[in-house]
Amino acid sequence: MHTPRRNFLIAAAVGALGLGVRSAPAIAKARPRVVIVGGGYGGAACARHLKLWDPRVEVTLIEPSPHFVSCPMSNTVIGGLNQVEDITFPYRYIREAVDRFVRDSVTRIDAGKRNVTTASGHSFPYDRLVLAAGVELQFDQVRGYDAEARKTIKHAWKAGPETVALRRQLEAMKDGGVFAISIPMAPFRCPPAPYERVSLIANYFKKAKPRSKILILDGNQDIISKKALFTTAWEKHYGFGGDDSMIDYRPGNLASAIDAKAMKLSTEFEDVKADVVNLIPPMRAAAVTALVGARTGDNGTWCPVDHTTHESSEAPHIHILGDSILSNLSKAGALANNSGKLCASALVEIFNGRRPDPAPVVTSTCYSASTDHTAFHVATVFRYNPADKSMEVQPGSGVSDRESELEFEMMRGWARNIWADTLGLPENYRFTNRV
Ligand SMILES: Cc1cc2nc3c(=O)[nH]c(=O)nc-3n(C[C@H](O)[C@H](O)[C@H](O)COP(=O)(O)OP(=O)(O)OC[C@H]3O[C@@H](n4cnc5c(N)ncnc54)[C@H](O)[C@@H]3O)c2cc1C
Repeated sequence: MHTPRRNFLIAAAVGALGLGVRSAPAIAKARPRVVIVGGGYGGAACARHLKLWDPRVEVTLIEPSPHFVSCPMSNTVIGGLNQVEDITFPYRYIREAVDRFVRDSVTRIDAGKRNVTTASGHSFPYDRLVLAAGVELQFDQVRGYDAEARKTIKHAWKAGPETVALRRQLEAMKDGGVFAISIPMAPFRCPPAPYERVSLIANYFKKAKPRSKILILDGNQDIISKKALFTTAWEKHYGFGGDDSMIDYRPGNLASAIDAKAMKLSTEFEDVKADVVNLIPPMRAAAVTALVGARTGDNGTWCPVDHTTHESSEAPHIHILGDSILSNLSKAGALANNSGKLCASALVEIFNGRRPDPAPVVTSTCYSASTDHTAFHVATVFRYNPADKSMEVQPGSGVSDRESELEFEMMRGWARNIWADTLGLPENYRFTNRV
């Protein structure tokens, strides 16, 4: 137990370390309370490691979904290599690791009183709040992409029923049909993932519906991730660039409207008709971040944070993780997992009256499959540079030289590793993913 004198000393030490008065009330508590909103890659990793590294911290994790369904590897389900069950995991182990696991959505935050309220009306007080709620899809940015249209037109950019529905549409499509995918302008969740999706659908078509075509309408002026690796693989496997290419790539072609009944997708330049349309809408930081006015960066779309603690630049005592942040880090599960740990570590330091690491490092590895047996990756190490307050790419980061079967095997290992690390799966957990 902390005595009042010890509390005073810790508060004084924190002041001397330049952490400011913000930190003092939280560390003065015997059992600091942390509420984490969102049990995805960032939130679950943060919750688990916070509890591991300082068991006295009282951790409440709030998440509405009954299971964790992974976006990483969801393209393998769309490509027919895995089933959705293979990328679905129980929250059982993380529930056992934290003090309170609440299956609900946060709908209100009183930042003054430091209290969150859920849709079912329950309230949870906090000393520090962590918002790790991913992205909000902006359907209203594409005319006609309303609730009715969404019954037919899938985004499959949050894994689960959408993933399965898109796979079923592809299975039902006739040989010789057209699949169109619309990519929003960056930044969006997982820049390589649309191009990986194209690769795995092309792989499926090549085997099952070889007369079919894939039309890529990219809002960006060029392929924005692993370009040379993707185009080389597409040339080799799917005839890209030739007269009979399965893939037709049209850059600078942002979707502006969808007519779901006519299966017609419109851009500034053209109207295209397709048998299956995968329309990925623009995105911004999760809606819950707007409840505390944290979504102020990049024209009100992403949340600026202090990269050493992930504390919001706008909302004291509120930390923001994963895809929601304004940053040069790509929006990846690996980075959400890493920043969840970084934030957990910073909170432990703050609660114990120590200074968080002033130049933290985070890493990311992201594999993309190019066929059902080859893959490549990009690996990046970032270190915080206090001079310009940004995460700087470190030497040695980079992409694979070429696709390989070895990397395909490594991709499966990567996925199992990050699922176990994020969710605390036990050593004897029986993974079922073939890929
Ligand atoms: C097709 C695809 C493939 C991808 N492949 C890769 C890959 O190979 N490698 C990689 O590193 N990344 C990949 N990603 C990116 C990765 O999925 C995201 O970067 C990652 O999920 C971000 O983690 P997060 O914690 O920010 O958000 P999420 O993982 O989305 O978690 C957010 C959680 O918050 C919950 N939530 C939302 N609002 C509330 C609320 N109000 N109250 C309570 N809970 C709430 C949600 O239910 C959700 O569980 C891929 C993404 C896609 C779409």
